[in-house]
Order: sequence, then structure tokens, then C-alpha cells
Amino acid sequence: SGQHTSPRLRADFATALPELAIPWSARRWPAPALLTLEEPLAQALGWSPAWLRGPQGVAFLTGQALPPGARPVAQIYAGHQFGGWVPRLGDGRALLLGEAELATPAGPRRVDVALKGSGPTPLSRGGDGLAALAPMLREALVSAAMHALGIPTTRALAVLATGQTVWRDGEPLPGALLVRVAASHLRVGTFQWVAAQGDAVLLRRLLAFALRRHDPDLAAALPPVPEGGVPEVPAEVALDWLRAVVARQARLVAQWMAVGFIHGVMNTDNMAIGGETIDYGPCAFMEAFDPATVHSSIDHGGRYAWGNQPRIAAWNLARLAETVLPLLHTDEEQAVALATEAVRGFTPAWRRAWRAAMRAKLGLTPPGAAPAAGPWAWQDDQGLDDAWAADDDALIADWLARLQAQEADWTLVHRRLAEVAAAVDDGETARLAAARAALSPLLREPAALDGWLVRWVARLARGGIPAREVAAALRRANPAVIARNLRVEEALAAALQGSLAPWRALHAALQRPFDEPADPRHAEPAPRDWARRYVTFCGT
Ligand code: AMP
Ligand code: MG
Ligand code: MG
Repeated sequence: SGQHTSPRLRADFATALPELAIPWSARRWPAPALLTLEEPLAQALGWSPAWLRGPQGVAFLTGQALPPGARPVAQIYAGHQFGGWVPRLGDGRALLLGEAELATPAGPRRVDVALKGSGPTPLSRGGDGLAALAPMLREALVSAAMHALGIPTTRALAVLATGQTVWRDGEPLPGALLVRVAASHLRVGTFQWVAAQGDAVLLRRLLAFALRRHDPDLAAALPPVPEGGVPEVPAEVALDWLRAVVARQARLVAQWMAVGFIHGVMNTDNMAIGGETIDYGPCAFMEAFDPATVHSSIDHGGRYAWGNQPRIAAWNLARLAETVLPLLHTDEEQAVALATEAVRGFTPAWRRAWRAAMRAKLGLTPPGAAPAAGPWAWQDDQGLDDAWAADDDALIADWLARLQAQEADWTLVHRRLAEVAAAVDDGETARLAAARAALSPLLREPAALDGWLVRWVARLARGGIPAREVAAALRRANPAVIARNLRVEEALAAALQGSLAPWRALHAALQRPFDEPADPRHAEPAPRDWARRYVTFCGT
């Protein structure tokens, strides 16, 4: 219904925080060409897909022609990479073009529009500032999958070929650009860089900017800023903000884990304050369930393994809390106590979000609740530490232990539980037959889940929801299609051979993750040996 026009951009970040913004522009490209365009996202931005596909649109999307209002900048930040402090990182191959307005079901939202792979900047630190085609198509695919799964994420508006050759490990590769739309690019590392400058006024300005962008309710409590003055951030507001960031991360990490997502490089510069998944480099979806699963080529210690993600998120949040200590209390000891209490809130918040997600995945309704309307239906329920929580935790723990021992495919074993639920009302024999047909092919020992299933059936009876309704809820909560590593790699290999058809087919299947895919291969696990050896890379 909205009027689709050509883009206009704002320069909010560049104006509000010039100390963090280096005015810069994209490199000139030999032969830019649009490869993918996320049309619904373009429409939600109010931008005409037809215009974006035309020559002016391509010039805009590749950073060659600036829209009215744009003042592109490279953003400065710092960060801990694998636990080691790096005082100055920043956009080494990215450019914030500016901000736009995105229509969402919850109303209009301010978003960043940025380029990735736009050429070297003063923050490139010896890198070439470029991106190769396959990793950009990979980010576009995986972020689209995450979005369709209902998980907060930065999005890929478009991937464009640049015509520029990119050299990686002595190999010439086709160069590409990704146009990223994000709630913001404010990271833990952004706060770390500002804190390291020791500039208390700049810190307040950054926090006020972050509050207005991500926490308008808290921002409403900020006192008005006098003409030419500096924002005051009351201590209670700073503390509530810290708690809000902690809560968002706790939920996000639980959501990742529920779909088997391994971020792969949860450095503090890759954790967004707004609670979106950001920086799709070495990420992967786990297939055979093992909490120690790691695919990243550089994660030798398993720091960013699937099951380690909550611990790392909490560690990163402690680094964030350190940056705002001076705003929490004038007395340092008291400030540390408040910050510690806020960060400690991560573990119970994550546990509740994880329990809610696992209950949905197993069809376990909390007392008095209706079957889950979707995967994250009970995330906000404060009653999650209810009378059944301890029993459910035990049932979940037993389930996870068995899945791990059986090396069961994380996605399929949950998805197929719906088939078992559908047979529960037909009695023990039918239920066992359904379990044999649906689950046994996923297990090393065909009967390994039998004992657990008896307890599960008893728990379903206690919940009082008809088993057929549970089956339907299980299909709403457990995706049939995730971005399977082998399918992603096949799509990227085809793209490098000049065919985007497999990428498009997989992208289409990932748009409807809770439906059985048209091509059953999109739901198939990879051969075990291939999956075990699968390695992902950062920053290629
Ligand atoms: P990442 O591991 O993707 O979070 O990247 C870490 C840092 O390296 C960021 O500051 C990036 O901007 C920078 N970087 C990654 N790839 C390149 C590249 N090809 N050229 C310049 N900087 C890069
Ligand atoms: Mg990064
Ligand atoms: Mg990256």
C-alpha cells in the first residue's frame, strides 16, 4: 500500500557521534551487477524493487551514487577477539551509508543501511577491504533463514557482483558486496572503544544514542538536553539499559541454540547492543547433536562451540558492563556491585528462555498454557519457573543426553517428534510403531529413546492437551528446513559456476522453514563424515 520511491537516507550516527565515524566512500567497481534482492525487505523500506534493479539502483546499492541525505562513514570500534583485547578495530571493509525507516509489524523502526565489502578504509589494518562472492551469498542465505525462523538478525537487502577480483590464499575470486540492513551496528566493542578513550561525555552521548535507537521506553526517561549541552543519563536508566541488553542476549542465544545455530565468532565486536545476530562469517548449523560442536577453522579451543555460547555471551556482557561503570554509581565499588548483579541476571534469563524454547520443541505446555503458537511463544512468560519446571528440566536433560549419545540430527529428531505425538492417542503399539518409523532411522540404536518416550507421553497426558494438537504445535515450533551446511555449500559452488538457481531454490525453502520443503533434499542431513569435517572461515 505504501508509496515506493527511490531511497533517501539520514545521517543520524554520523551527526550524533562524529568521533566514531570516519567520512568515507566506496571504491569504484569495474562491472557492478545485482545478483540477489530481498524484495519484501526493499518494500518494507519503502524502496521500489524495480528502481533498485535498474542502473540507478545498482549505483546506489554498490555505493557509487549517494542518495539524498547520505554521508557514508566507516564506524570505529574496539573489541576482544578470542578473549584478546584489540584497541582499534572498526569497519575495515564496511561502510554505513546512513539510516532509513523500516516498516515492521510493531510499527516503523529506524535501521542502518550499510555496505560490506565496499573497499579499504582507514580501519582496514592491512586487509583489502573486499569481500568474495561466496561468503556474501552465504551471509544473505543464512541471515534470511534466521529471519524466517523468527530470530532477530541483521538482514541482507542485496548481494551484488563488483567485477573486482579478490585474492584469497593466492586464488582469484569474484568480488561482491552485501547491502546490510541492521537495527544498528552498535556493538559491545563500540562501547569498549569509547570507554577506552576515557571521555565520560562521549560515553553519555553514545548511550543516549543507543537508548533512543533500541530502548525508546528507557530513552523517554532521559531528561531533556539543554541547547548545546550534553545528555545526562540517570544511573537507574543506565542500569535498566544494561539489564535490557542482558535480557536480549539471553533470549537471542537461547533462540540460536534451539535451532542449532553456532555463531562461530562471538567476539565482543560481533555482539550487537540491539540484540540482533550480526556478523555471519564462520557460523554453521549443527547437525548431529553435540554441545561441543565447532566448525570455525580458527576456533581451536572450542571457545565458540554450540554449548559454550551462553558462557561467552555472559563474558561479553561483563565487558560491556565495565564500560558503563562510571554511569552506574559515583562510588566505584557500588558501581561494580550493580554491574555484577545485572550481568549475573544473564544465567537465569538464559535458562528460562532455553527452557521455554525446549518446552516448545518438545510440546511441553507450561501449566495452564495453550500449545505453543510458534517457536518463541513462551519467551516472555514470567511464570516459567512454575511448578513443572524442575520435572521438565530433568526430562529435557535426559532427552539431550540421549540425543548426544545417539548423534541424532538436531533438527530432524525434533521435527519428527510430531509424528510420534500424532500416534499417542492410538495407544502404546501405534506410538512405538510411529517412533520406530520416525525416530529410529536417526539413531545409532533404534530403541534408544523408548524409555524417554514413556516419560514424555506421561508428561503430555499431565499437560492435558490432546496429542494431535501437540503434534501440530510441534510442527510450528520445530523447523523442517534449516540452512544445512552441505546444501549451502552446493548453492555457493553453483553460483561460482554461474548458476544462482540452487541458491534461489534453497532461499525459497528457507523462507518457509516450518513447511516440508518442495525439494526433500533441503531437509536432509549431510553424510556424517562430511558434516564432521565441515570447516567454516571468517572474513573471506
Ligand atoms: P570479523 O572477524 O568479521 O568480525 O572482522 C574483524 C575485523 O576485521 C573487523 O574490523 C573487520 O572490519 C575487519 N576485516 C575483516 N575482513 C576484512 C578485509 N577483507 N579487509 C579489511 N578489514 C577486514
Ligand atoms: Mg565483525
Ligand atoms: Mg565478519
